[in-house]
Amino acid sequence: MSSEKEFIVFGAPSIGEEEIKEVEATLRSGWLGTGPKVARFEKEFAEYKGYSASHSAAVNSCTAALHVSMVAAGLAPGDEVITTAMTFCATVSSIIHAGLTPVLADIERDTLNISPDKISEKITPKTRAILLVHFAGRPCNMTAIMALAKTHNLIVIEDCAHAIETKYQGVPAGTFGDFGCFSFYVTKNLATGEGGMVLARDEDKIARVKRLALHGMTKDAWHRFGDKGYKHYQVVECGFKYNMMDIQAALGIHQLKSIEENWTRREQIWQQYQSAFNDLPFTCPSEPTPGDRHAYHLYTILLDNTESSISRDQFLDAMTSEKIGVGVHYLSIPEHPYYQSTFGWKPEDTPIATEVGQNTISLPLSPKMSNEDIQRVISAVKKLIVR
Ligand SMILES: *Cc1c(COP(=O)(O)O)cnc(C)c1O
Repeated sequence: MSSEKEFIVFGAPSIGEEEIKEVEATLRSGWLGTGPKVARFEKEFAEYKGYSASHSAAVNSCTAALHVSMVAAGLAPGDEVITTAMTFCATVSSIIHAGLTPVLADIERDTLNISPDKISEKITPKTRAILLVHFAGRPCNMTAIMALAKTHNLIVIEDCAHAIETKYQGVPAGTFGDFGCFSFYVTKNLATGEGGMVLARDEDKIARVKRLALHGMTKDAWHRFGDKGYKHYQVVECGFKYNMMDIQAALGIHQLKSIEENWTRREQIWQQYQSAFNDLPFTCPSEPTPGDRHAYHLYTILLDNTESSISRDQFLDAMTSEKIGVGVHYLSIPEHPYYQSTFGWKPEDTPIATEVGQNTISLPLSPKMSNEDIQRVISAVKKLIVR
């Protein structure tokens, strides 16, 4: 391999000419803020998920989507929300921002998703909601989770940051629960730089999410300053500043058009990794469940074989030296000092998530990768991880 090989950026977005032209047109139009392109993106995203436009609200991140969803759910301070110990910090912090009490449940080792049995063990008279994550793009067991929610009258919020293309037994992720929250951060399957979306079955909840995302005002700026005459707005509740801009939606509209093509490419890469790593001394992700659709957001291996020649952290450094970007998704939530000191959580309370968090490595899985890039990753892994 030549010495001038380029760094393979982890989670590099695939931005085409269409995106660039649309952003330029948006800048030339003078309408940079929340306007017609956001409305179009909301409609097209909702349709992709099998909904009409009145079921979607674009916001500026998935963190914002999770926060406003929990506010719009009408929960009261002190209400308990059960979530997974294996997720990005924003899942848990959004519960805290909404004034609610997070409760952690452990995961299933083969799917890395929250375990319905562990949820069941954590239900108390104060439990009001379940906030699940479709980890890496693999759907949670929605049959079991929705049954628990029905029995205990719980709100369900789906963190779909990894799960735009995900389907559970044919049904799109984000349409099971009361709210589905999506991320369009740069590394996600659809990238607008920063961005997010809320889906809800109840149209009144979406109207409330839109209001909360823009200061709790009754009319958004596009309507206020449009050509239909000035309209006064009224503040009807204390909202946030979470609206998406047309510049972001300009990217989103075209990213959505290539979502399936990019998915197909990531599936190919995922399968190439699966067959190349078959005999190596680590655990590959389990195959998708028949009937489900995996979004192939992350390809995570578990360096859980004590016979392998290298530790997880040594491997991360060695891959970086090979000019290959890698990630860790994630250290388990109770490994972080803030949650330990605030809630008294201990890593051993959710042992599976903790063990996974100490051994997991995410390999690059971007549709931008060339065949040569894929071979470089495979060769580096084979070279570094031996018995
Ligand atoms: C990325 C991510 C988020 C946060 O998304 P932002 O759009 O960056 O706010 C939340 N949950 C999970 C599981 C994520 O991966």
